[in-house]
Amino acid sequence: ESNIVLDVRAARLGSRYVLLLGDDLTDSQRLDDVRRDFIANISHELKTPIASVGLLAEAIDMAADEPAQVRRFTHRLTQESARLARITQDIIDLSRLQSQDVLSKPDLVSVDEIVAAAVDQNRVVAEARDIVLAVRNKSRAEVLGDESLLVMAVNNLIANAINYSLPGTRVGVGVKSTDGAVEIAVTDQGVGIPEEDLDRVFERFFRVDEARSRNTGGTGLGLSIVKHAVQNHGGDVRVWSQSGRGSTFTIRLPEAPIDAVKAEKDPQ
Ligand code: ADP
Repeated sequence: ESNIVLDVRAARLGSRYVLLLGDDLTDSQRLDDVRRDFIANISHELKTPIASVGLLAEAIDMAADEPAQVRRFTHRLTQESARLARITQDIIDLSRLQSQDVLSKPDLVSVDEIVAAAVDQNRVVAEARDIVLAVRNKSRAEVLGDESLLVMAVNNLIANAINYSLPGTRVGVGVKSTDGAVEIAVTDQGVGIPEEDLDRVFERFFRVDEARSRNTGGTGLGLSIVKHAVQNHGGDVRVWSQSGRGSTFTIRLPEAPIDAVKAEKDPQ
């Protein structure tokens, strides 16, 4: 899936670092195919919950005299509408990532803050599922980019780690910087991913186990969003996993160059 419409690179211009938005995809036919595929996939994903909402509304209407039935149907109606909301939000996130101006004015962002925000967003769910969420270390590294997108990327990885783990296990989030890059690793002791599916998990709408993912509320878009967000920052995301043992997803981002950090802290 090399359909990255937006290719953002950190490039040095004079003494300032800017993010260049480049369109790598010169082949407009390929772009058309990608769009058509995407729309076909979205339509397919939306059809089921929309049909369910209609059917459930009818069922509620017919069961009006039986409160227990009505409650059962309204419960399912709530679930289906939540699912529609999730899919819609994911699609909005993805299209935001593909709009040209997303990183035209990058900010200097602290990686520790990104990680802390993403961890906070997952604390309640982790606790509810009896999963220990542990941040292993801090880096004090800074990157150039869009804080909310990066929080969203790390948040997606942590949410997946929790989602595909069993109660009583541990999800670790570690940060380390090495030679101009910073790595954020999210490790779980969950179900893992079969080797033959490893390079497909970043594809839109791909799920290892469709039924399971649907049941746990998955849309199949999360990792695709992560990949785009990270690539837009000149970074990448990798996965290591073993079926039945667990997974580690690692985001690598270029660290903000020292003079960008100085300029921010000490504006002339
Ligand atoms: P979903 O919304 O289905 O979780 P994602 O794009 O986030 O979609 O992930 C795609 C698929 O990759 C998931 O359906 C799941 O099968 C697999 N996956 C993602 N993260 C993990 C993980 N931490 N452990 C095991 N499987 C995972």
